[in-house]
Amino acid sequence: MSVSGKLIVFTAPSGSGKTTIVKHILATFPQTSFSVSATTRPQRPHEVHGQDYYFLSVDIFQRWIGYGAFAEWEEVYPGQFYGTLKSEIKRLHQKDKHVIFDVDVKGALSIKEKYPLECLTVFVKVPSMEELERRLRHRGTDSEESLKKRLSKAEFELTFESRFDQVLINDDLQGTLKKAEEIVRNFLF
Ligand code: ADP
Ligand code: 5GP
Repeated sequence: MSVSGKLIVFTAPSGSGKTTIVKHILATFPQTSFSVSATTRPQRPHEVHGQDYYFLSVDIFQRWIGYGAFAEWEEVYPGQFYGTLKSEIKRLHQKDKHVIFDVDVKGALSIKEKYPLECLTVFVKVPSMEELERRLRHRGTDSEESLKKRLSKAEFELTFESRFDQVLINDDLQGTLKKAEEIVRNFLF
């Protein structure tokens, strides 16, 4: 599948600030739109189906894998599947939007491999593991078990840093948002 618009993929260990940065980019650049992923993880109270994610059962997700519906998918945590639907990228390009993704490191590399010319990958990083844990606890959306899973996965994900086009260290938030804007502006225009 070839695509006409551009693809900007934000990736990072959970808790690094991807969602915060992506929301800022979407609000700053009206030419961009968010690629809503499919997932089998439970819906959080503030999340809206079709806006934050398409929440699917494992059974349906696996059936859609079989139909070839995904541009990429990963079992990001044991038993929890996440994936980008081909139809989602098509839907946004038909609306003349550049597509913004929030996916895990393997998903980001798969999208880059599939669309090398149109795609920019940005790896978001927190200054230290201690700060990452602090932010995840402060966000308050994860059980202790889920938090442990995310922290142990983060150590693995940090080893992928050198494989992305840009690395963005999310220390001071306002400074980070300005840098993110600059990265996106340079790529789109
Ligand atoms: P992700 O999408 O990568 O899991 P979030 O955007 O949800 O990360 O950010 C994790 C938590 O850290 C949120 O509570 C968010 O408000 C907070 N946060 C994001 N950036 C910063 C920052 N630069 N300094 C302090 N807290 C931050
Ligand atoms: P969360 O459960 O915190 O929303 O997301 C957990 C992880 O799954 C994050 O690293 C997020 O970027 C990743 N993720 C979300 N959507 C997708 C997707 O479509 N594909 C892949 N590979 N990862 C995703």
